[in-house]
Amino acid sequence: MLTITEAERRQSGRETDTQLTVVIPVFNESACLFAFHRRLQASMEGLGRWRAMYVDDGSDDCTRLVLRKLLYDHANISVIRLSRNFGKEVAVTAGLDHADGDAVIVIDADLQDPPEVIPALVAEWRRGFDMVYAQRRARAGDGWLKRVTASLFYRLMERLGRVRLPRNVGDFRLLSRRAVDAVRQYREHHRFMKGLFASIGFASTAVPYDRTPRYSGRSKWTYWRLWNLALEGITGFTVMPLKIATYLGMMVAVFSLIYGGQIVLRTVIFGNSVPGYPSLMTVVLFMGGVQLMTMGVIGEYLGRVFNEAKFRPLYIVEDVFDYDVLADPVTDKTVLELERSAAAA
Ligand code: UDP
Ligand code: MG
Repeated sequence: MLTITEAERRQSGRETDTQLTVVIPVFNESACLFAFHRRLQASMEGLGRWRAMYVDDGSDDCTRLVLRKLLYDHANISVIRLSRNFGKEVAVTAGLDHADGDAVIVIDADLQDPPEVIPALVAEWRRGFDMVYAQRRARAGDGWLKRVTASLFYRLMERLGRVRLPRNVGDFRLLSRRAVDAVRQYREHHRFMKGLFASIGFASTAVPYDRTPRYSGRSKWTYWRLWNLALEGITGFTVMPLKIATYLGMMVAVFSLIYGGQIVLRTVIFGNSVPGYPSLMTVVLFMGGVQLMTMGVIGEYLGRVFNEAKFRPLYIVEDVFDYDVLADPVTDKTVLELERSAAAA
């Protein structure tokens, strides 16, 4: 970890005439977007040149039209539309791939990450940090089950993996140009962004903030998806489960040997023992269970090798919009109504 004095020496060029790019993954957020963009705009005031880069992750509500309306009304917006829903991780990656600028900020569109924190992130970057993550103070809006499972996951990752994950940190963060370039070199398909961000290194720091409940709609993170994310985190950053499987197998083998020896001895001394059925079943079922589990663990890794080995593109871009390519104003009634209600709030 670099100290701030060392970092401060490298701050050249971050004070004047910088370009900031804000990457916003968007999936069916038509209800939030106008309100989000207004708050974003207010927060970026006085930070120099900036650009909002919305990545439309294959939305199927009127998000597309809302984005066109924003494009039409503002000069500093780009919209990248992916050909289908690829998931937030990939949407953020597409944004990072397309983002120019001296620093890139990644933020959710649902206003759970308050845009008002961005100036503080930028200030830390100007002091010389390459990775500035916004750290939640309170998990408002999260139930106890989510809090407990999240804490368990962080503890497990710290035990198993080599990278230290900062706690209570999401994708809401600022990356310097070279941090973005570093992250872009990670092209794996199973993307555990938190882990990727943590593993590139560089001088990093946290800015605390309070997370608010979603502005509208509901989180797309069901427990099933969270469980899969946790699996992604573990299998993406450590092969410890494979080792555990090996040692578990060894332990069971040794135990069975001892147990088998004891049965042989008993038979030799006390004669044939027919009523051994329960113990036999127990051992057979136990062994079967252990074998299936170990095979499952191996399968998780093998499946990932299979997916990576196909070398498929991470995402497909349907189109990229900048201000000048658009001619017609948006007249869709729903969209205009959404804009009006956001302005009234
Ligand atoms: N998102 C996305 N693709 C998806 C799911 C979500 O781009 O498949 C975006 C979503 O529009 C939002 C951000 O990622 O801007 C976070 O999504 P969500 O609020 O569902 O996640 P949570 O806040 O619960 O982590
Ligand atoms: Mg959210």
